[in-house]
Amino acid sequence: MAERKVSWRDRFGDEITCVRCLEIKDSTHMDRLLWCRECRRTARLRATRRGWAVGVVFAAALAAWIWVVVKPSDLVLGGWVATLVAAAWIGARVAREVFFGIDRFQNRRAAEAVPPGSGPPAGDASR
Ligand SMILES: [Zn+2]
Repeated sequence: MAERKVSWRDRFGDEITCVRCLEIKDSTHMDRLLWCRECRRTARLRATRRGWAVGVVFAAALAAWIWVVVKPSDLVLGGWVATLVAAAWIGARVAREVFFGIDRFQNRRAAEAVPPGSGPPAGDASR
């Protein structure tokens, strides 16, 4: 007797309302937090933008520290520049994951939802 694999999706129908944008989507587009693909992408992009802001600030602070404390010579200037670029890149990646993790942990309802009437004129006007 073959047992059917149980999935968390079994609790829901074929269509699920996304908790972020409140749009009804196919269940295959949802993850376990009931975020649709577009909302995950939106959250990811927002986290990336914020992450780069943190990364650049971190690199600028590191540059100031190098300039004041380390007092680099011209000899290895390329090495210092590479260090700052790496600091910005790594800082941005780490901050992105932290921001995305916070977003996922908070899991705020309807954060991406557009109030009726304020969105683009697409959709039915009968509601
Ligand atoms: Zn959504």
